Amino acid sequence: MSALAGVLGFPVAHSRSPQMMNAAFAELGLDWRYLKLPVPPDRFEETVRALPGSGYRGVNVTIPHKLAAHDLADELSDTAGAIGAVNTLTFGENGRIAGDNTDAGGLLDALGEPLPPTALVLGAGGAARAAAWALAHAGADVTVWNRTPKGAAELAGALGVAASERPGAAELLVNATSVGLRPADSLDGLPLVDAEVVVDLVYGAGQTPFARWAEERGARLVDGLEVLVRQGARSLRLWTGQVPPVDSMRRAVVQPVV
Ligand code: NAP
Repeated sequence: MSALAGVLGFPVAHSRSPQMMNAAFAELGLDWRYLKLPVPPDRFEETVRALPGSGYRGVNVTIPHKLAAHDLADELSDTAGAIGAVNTLTFGENGRIAGDNTDAGGLLDALGEPLPPTALVLGAGGAARAAAWALAHAGADVTVWNRTPKGAAELAGALGVAASERPGAAELLVNATSVGLRPADSLDGLPLVDAEVVVDLVYGAGQTPFARWAEERGARLVDGLEVLVRQGARSLRLWTGQVPPVDSMRRAVVQPVV
């Protein structure tokens, strides 16, 4: 019987993770399957607890379950504990559920070296929290801006980074807002500072408004699909112990969603 993995979200129909992870399993010759698991919040815990008995070895967790996954896990990695959110659950043979956050390391992997010394993170939700923690932990001087300033102040206080309502220049700009999920979204109101490297965590069917802006200015762009691939690669490694085939994952993730 195949080992199973999947992604729990609500909604989750748009997820590109199954095509990406199934391509990786095939490349590695592993008899694993990765499924979409649409689960509403009030069914999250009972579903997760039932999964190991159905052959699941691990799952990714996306909106709106990342905090619930953090609270449910029996043990947390240092990263997941510091960020306060979990995107990867691993089911142990002893029945214990381990929680990790691969969004943070995935961002750093996608960014590569050298790390820009100063970073401005836009947003104060779960993605911004993982990005700000990852960059600060890696040694960058991080400032957070959010449309609702209270959110930025809270995030900054929790993670020990700076918050600003009128941020200055930074070498790295990270879009961790949901602006750009719709192709016609406007960037008006965002502090688009002059940055040499731009990360847009948002991804869709085509080029996002943020990616277009970055390319027009000649910045180096790291797009949301590359971050998705890199966080998925880290999850796959946690579950299987294998070296993830990132090129196959990259090729699969750009295919139309099935
Ligand atoms: P979230 O918790 O819902 O947070 C959304 C953030 O966007 C909030 O800070 C919100 O500000 C801000 N925002 C929403 N509309 C805005 C607008 N019109 N102008 C300015 N700011 C606005 O979402 P999340 O989980 O952090 O995810 C954010 C994005 O990252 C999503 O698009 C998600 O798909 C993406 N993401 C990508 C990856 C990846 O692997 N590529 C991983 C995780 C997340 P307020 O506080 O003012 O409402």
